[in-house]
Amino acid sequence: MVHWSPFVVSFKKRYPWVQLAGHAGNFQAGEYGRLLKRYCECEQQCLQKLMTDSLRPYVPGYYGIVQKDDHDYNLMDDLLADFDSPSIMDCKMGSRTYLEEELTKARERPRLRKDMYDKMIAVDPGAPTEEERAKQGVLKPRYMQWRETLSSTATLGFRIEGIKRADGTCNTNFKKTKHREQVMQALEDFVDGNTQILKLYLQRLEELRSALEQSQFFRTHEVVGSSLLFVHDASGKAKVWMIDFGKTVPLQTPQTLDHRTPWVEGNREDGYLWGLDNLIDIFSTMLPE
Ligand code: ATP
Ligand code: MG
Ligand code: MG
Repeated sequence: MVHWSPFVVSFKKRYPWVQLAGHAGNFQAGEYGRLLKRYCECEQQCLQKLMTDSLRPYVPGYYGIVQKDDHDYNLMDDLLADFDSPSIMDCKMGSRTYLEEELTKARERPRLRKDMYDKMIAVDPGAPTEEERAKQGVLKPRYMQWRETLSSTATLGFRIEGIKRADGTCNTNFKKTKHREQVMQALEDFVDGNTQILKLYLQRLEELRSALEQSQFFRTHEVVGSSLLFVHDASGKAKVWMIDFGKTVPLQTPQTLDHRTPWVEGNREDGYLWGLDNLIDIFSTMLPE
């Protein structure tokens, strides 16, 4: 099924800029191939630290806070600027997409949520338990955890958020793309069967994995809701960057994460590297021997 994304906005007619996730109003065009993302302190702190970390080549360059029309923004590189009619994919990394503190907060003053119950049955009428059905409501933590099991987040440690192909078709309907074969099919469509592009992506992901394993920043942060942005075009260029650090939070020293150990509440593991291992494995099996 192909959906036309509402988030294709023209950046001053320079080129059509594409946003695959988030609120449409959060981004503005900047000058010199840069863009403005609505300010978030957490993200600002991360981007700043990343500028001096071994992950620097894998994140957009960051240029500080700027004001525009009474709002604050983080100014960063537009990763699409060097591409011509790029194909773009946003993969949200990790085995959960909420912070531990969000779960704790959701548990305070537990309330049965009818709205979440309705959303649940709209997706899967069989999902609620007997009890939930009787009460026509679910608790928020239960809803949050259930939602992760719909996509490949819980089973593969990443999920596709959106894909825009060079031909203009845009699909952001991957919420139920869960199984390895479904993911593979989506990736195959994304690269249009081009094995050279696949190879470049695989190389870049392997380099990124090494950089992550070396990174001081990565070791000392819980990285949740962050994405890998894949970009390629007809010239044969293909690159991947880490984006979206709105939910990437520092741990208290001396705590560190390996990002592969399964999450149990309290250990703060996010499954980021486990997801990247799976993604690399999938790309590898898509390439002919
Ligand atoms: P959410 O938290 O819902 O994922 P968000 O508001 O935090 O959304 P991002 O995820 O950072 O926003 O970005 C949304 C989309 O905007 C990405 O999927 C990508 O298409 C585009 N985008 C973000 N940052 C950049 C960048 N530096 N260069 C090019 N495109 C970008
Ligand atoms: Mg995002
Ligand atoms: Mg975000």
